[in-house]
Amino acid sequence: MSDIPAKARIVEVGPRDGLQNEKQVIETSVKIELVERLSNAGLSYIEAGSFVNPKWVPQMAGSEAIFEQVKRQEGVKYVALVPNMAGYERAISVQADEVSIFTAASESFNKKNINCSIDESIERFLPVIEAAKAANIPVRGYVSCIVGCPYEGHIEPSAVATVSKKLIDLGCYEISLGDTIGVGTPGSMNKMLDAVLDISPAEKLAVHCHDTYGQALANIYASLQRGVSIIDSSVVIQDDVACRWVDV
Ligand SMILES: [Zn+2]
Repeated sequence: MSDIPAKARIVEVGPRDGLQNEKQVIETSVKIELVERLSNAGLSYIEAGSFVNPKWVPQMAGSEAIFEQVKRQEGVKYVALVPNMAGYERAISVQADEVSIFTAASESFNKKNINCSIDESIERFLPVIEAAKAANIPVRGYVSCIVGCPYEGHIEPSAVATVSKKLIDLGCYEISLGDTIGVGTPGSMNKMLDAVLDISPAEKLAVHCHDTYGQALANIYASLQRGVSIIDSSVVIQDDVACRWVDV
């Protein structure tokens, strides 16, 4: 085990990524209890909700109430996913500690998911990043489809490196590399990381491995061996990672 970092940092995204595809409606009070239990369990960074339009992701309605009502613990960051400036403003109005933004390494996925190209998606986030900088709110960037896309299949590692570099240059302090459809293997993760580690130190990178085909742990281990020690986790496991809006 000596070839992996001594410590990993866990970024818990269950209340957002885990719940967003649940079919049954989950009461806000249950979500609040989930977030509180996660902080009681010792998790110090929790993506507690998202400020996307509830018309598109009904399961994320009520995110304001989560941020307003959850019993916050000292030292714990409560983070919000935001799709645009309107989402950012909603997140800030309820004192989100940080925000996350998202794009994909696949043009087709972005077109289907958020109806714009990769570059257009990044442009949409410019005002969010600017406002966050001015308010001293850290911004985390998600890149989805890092090794495979449901529309394009294979994704070139260089495409992941290019979009990751753009987000880092704009001011994202960390990039979460997402295997959104869980098709990664240690081999494809390593090839992707060869490219991304050329443009970023490992300290700025996280991996976000969906377990669709049972490969998440192997992929995380391969990433740890490359020095990537920030790991996204989800206490609620989605078994249905079909492409939906804001599926990161
Ligand atoms: Zn995800």
